[in-house]
Amino acid sequence: MSLRDTLGRPHRSLRISVTDRCTLRCRYCMPEEHYEWIPREQVLTFEEIDRLADVFVRLGVTKIRLTGGEPLIRRSLPDLMAMLARKNVDLAMTTNGLLLAERAVALREAGLDRVTVSLDTLRPDRFRLLTGRDSLDQVIEGIESAQRVGFETLKINTVVVGGFNDDELVDMLEFGRRVGAEVRFIEYMDVGGATGWSTKQVVSRKTMLERLADALGAIVPAARDGSAPAERFTLPNETQFGIISSTTAPFCSSCDRSRLTCDGMWYLCLYAKEGVDLKSPLRNGASPDELVSLIESTWQQRADRGAEDRLAIEQRGPLVPLAALRENSHLEMHTRGG
Ligand code: SAM
Ligand code: SF4
Ligand code: SF4
Repeated sequence: MSLRDTLGRPHRSLRISVTDRCTLRCRYCMPEEHYEWIPREQVLTFEEIDRLADVFVRLGVTKIRLTGGEPLIRRSLPDLMAMLARKNVDLAMTTNGLLLAERAVALREAGLDRVTVSLDTLRPDRFRLLTGRDSLDQVIEGIESAQRVGFETLKINTVVVGGFNDDELVDMLEFGRRVGAEVRFIEYMDVGGATGWSTKQVVSRKTMLERLADALGAIVPAARDGSAPAERFTLPNETQFGIISSTTAPFCSSCDRSRLTCDGMWYLCLYAKEGVDLKSPLRNGASPDELVSLIESTWQQRADRGAEDRLAIEQRGPLVPLAALRENSHLEMHTRGG
């Protein structure tokens, strides 16, 4: 019998945040002036990540996604890719795309299967306002390079923020079509770090579908991969796209994901307040079998349904107040990895 949590959910997908640092400052993720970074000596080496990944794979993980912060900040990331690729897992990465053009070939050669690039707007002025940087062209170059390299899938993540970029849904789909990428619209989430979040700025899955149907014609739902976060749809012109409706229609009941931070804290839910320290046992000489027992017994006790719990709250605001984020940076989305 494979590993299951208290709600019968298996553990198939591990997201590894390889750094908490980032080259952008997206308003919905890192809106503050200053952040405390995880000290370098606390950050796991690639060998340590590899050893932990081995244990997770032994317990049934078949998909690994590298994320951050911005994963491409770690210059020798292809070396880690090559180590993970030997495990015969589905290997993916989420990036802001800024450094992708120069690394895409090396990453593909090292064994990266799938790439998701986050891009929320095609307008340079909005990009600057949203991210604090003037780098839209660089991100587009990154996406085009990834297209030329030919990953198994190329996706674009677009967080839809009401009153900011919700008039670009059709433009994003056209852009995705041009560069051979499937666009996934993400509802703005009240995760840790999103200190400016308010219900007013959430554009629901329902509203997105209505607007796209008005503009482009009837939308047909595509078959759903049980545990995948995105619901997929097809437009009359055959374009496929996804919606990740974590805020208004969460999908916790099929969630098979967990997250490992760059300093080895393991979180069983994006919204979890507490994590499990895997770095200490690893650095104190725990054997692979001991790590297996720790991870196995922890997963068996998992009952998290963070996004569904949030949905039940009537007066909803940011998940974590700024003061608490300053006390504990592990509550930040950019630390635990999106
Ligand atoms: N820096 C990389 C990037 O932006 O792709 C990887 C890390 S980022 C935290 C991963 C994903 O989380 C991105 O697609 C980003 O858009 C998404 N994200 C961050 N904050 C969010 C929020 N408040 N609501 C919804 N998605 C968010
Ligand atoms: Fe933006 Fe990703 Fe950096 Fe967050 S981690 S600020 S979403 S680029
Ligand atoms: Fe999974 Fe937690 Fe997200 Fe629900 S909120 S889908 S349990 S990570």
